[in-house]
Amino acid sequence: MRLLIMGPPGAGKGTQAKEIARRLEIPAISTGEILRKNVEDQTLLGREARRYLDRGDLVPDEIINGMVRARLDEPDTRHGFLLDGFPRTLAQVETLDNILADEGVKLDRVLVLKVDNDELVRRLLGRAESDGRTDDTEEVIRRRLEVYSEQTEPLLGVYAQRGLLVIVKGMGEVDEVTERVLAALA
Ligand code: ADP
Repeated sequence: MRLLIMGPPGAGKGTQAKEIARRLEIPAISTGEILRKNVEDQTLLGREARRYLDRGDLVPDEIINGMVRARLDEPDTRHGFLLDGFPRTLAQVETLDNILADEGVKLDRVLVLKVDNDELVRRLLGRAESDGRTDDTEEVIRRRLEVYSEQTEPLLGVYAQRGLLVIVKGMGEVDEVTERVLAALA
């Protein structure tokens, strides 16, 4: 199965993506995680991406597109994948369409996690204390939520038109949400 998982920062995409991918036996691919790893390893890509990450802004397409294409070229994605964090803009939708068209495959579903705004902020601030992600300060969180509603939320309309959206309530226990997603996919 070829899946996207979408939703605002704090919706639990990363957590759910890992568990759902494990259950479906496909790789979970998180662009945020790949970027943070590059920053940590101080690669050229990481050095270029860092200032955007730290501000809560999107990393430019020139950086991200090649990174995603290379990852989706790897053999473990042949029978499917769960992509988390890409696409985030309408231009990235087109890039993904092109990558998939080149491989002669199509997306099966786009999962959307719905979580109330208050709960999002509460979770993100909680994570800031526990994980120490440099983009989890209050100001940067606010910026990431703004970027999401301006640039990423419009993508839901595009995928809805294609008949791919599967909307799942992301509130409640982690396991409950996973079961809800798997039931919605069945
Ligand atoms: P969250 O979903 O909690 O905001 P992510 O780990 O998905 O966190 O992303 C963290 C940061 O990585 C984003 O704020 C952005 O700077 C960068 N990033 C991740 N994916 C993309 C993308 N597709 N395009 C541009 N920037 C991205």
